[in-house]
Amino acid sequence: MRLSRRVEKLPPYLFVEISKKIAEKKARGEEVISFGIGDPDIPTPAHVIERLCQAAQDPANHRYPESEGLPELRRAMAGWYQRRFGVSLDPDSEVLPLIGSKEGVAHIALCLIDPGDTALVPDPAYPVYSVCAMLAGGRLYHMPLIEKNKFLPNLGTIPQHIAKKAKLLWLNYPNNPTAAVADLAFFKQVVEFARQHEIVVCHDGPYSEVAYDGYRPPSFMETEGAREVGIEFHSLSKSYNMTGWRIGMAVGNAEVIDALRRLKSNMDSGIPQAIQYAAIEALNGPDDCVEEHNRIYQRRRDLIIDVLQSIGVEAQPPKASLYIWARVPEGYTSVNFATELLETVGVVVTPGTGYGRNGEGYIRLSLTIPDAALVKGLSRLADWRKGKRGSNIKIT
Ligand SMILES: *Cc1c(COP(=O)(O)O)cnc(C)c1O
Repeated sequence: MRLSRRVEKLPPYLFVEISKKIAEKKARGEEVISFGIGDPDIPTPAHVIERLCQAAQDPANHRYPESEGLPELRRAMAGWYQRRFGVSLDPDSEVLPLIGSKEGVAHIALCLIDPGDTALVPDPAYPVYSVCAMLAGGRLYHMPLIEKNKFLPNLGTIPQHIAKKAKLLWLNYPNNPTAAVADLAFFKQVVEFARQHEIVVCHDGPYSEVAYDGYRPPSFMETEGAREVGIEFHSLSKSYNMTGWRIGMAVGNAEVIDALRRLKSNMDSGIPQAIQYAAIEALNGPDDCVEEHNRIYQRRRDLIIDVLQSIGVEAQPPKASLYIWARVPEGYTSVNFATELLETVGVVVTPGTGYGRNGEGYIRLSLTIPDAALVKGLSRLADWRKGKRGSNIKIT
């Protein structure tokens, strides 16, 4: 059988070795505690599920949905942007519901990139940006996200000839995996850069509602001129613990939104309508659930940071996102350290290099770990440190 070159060129799964080790441990009956996955462990709020069940009973929702979503859903999405960010969007031309934002993040490359075109993608980053730009035949220019620059790309260092050719610029704040945040001053620079070089900005913002210590992340769409140069992806996944239901949105530039709508109308038949009604309920409903989830994550964040510091792993408490981006101790690589934690104490963390070369030297820990597992995981991390001390004593 001959598969397409496109598929053959797909990068191999980066955690093959670690996944194998996890599977082996589990097969031996050993319990593995995972800080690896960014997927809310807290259930979807009850009022949202109630609406979903009710809508599932209505035969009108058993038929094909419209690809562009219910008008009420697009209005609820626009209303949410208005209330949350003070941004007015036209629900018909500037809002497009998605089957989870990953679906739109993946497909947008096909709307903007022709073979040979360049996409500017952060490194480290959510891998979908670069893989899908490559599937569209594009070339990549990696913008390093480094600690010294607060994990923001330095747009001024992108060579002129690259900027001139680039068609698409990917950004993601609050950031996965680095947990960095961006302010409106940075977004203003982005708009200027995009205008100057005629680049479409795609801002991926699924963590805008997951924030701590009273911090409220801005939307790229709040920036003057943002709507002329780009779009923003948002999702109900992380805001309302709805990863399993698959619903998100793209908002912003009408021409880009229309391109994505046209592409999608040839590929999918929209989001199951009962789920659309659940999303309307979530977006229009009370937001105390969001605050309550953030309080839970914030407490976990503080517990994890304390333990990391006590075992010699450097990390700053994030202002937003579901992640802690921690430096591995001296003498380790990301993969070495992740492997050692798994082998010695059965704790899974994600090596930073899974998100790009500039992730070397870091590991990512997720806050979506249920409290009981969290407590166990933290005590195992402390055990790792004790084991180290023991071995040091033996050596000297
Ligand atoms: C979780 C995540 C998404 C995708 O969320 P959906 O569930 O597909 O809406 C997109 N981008 C980043 C950076 C994420 O971490």
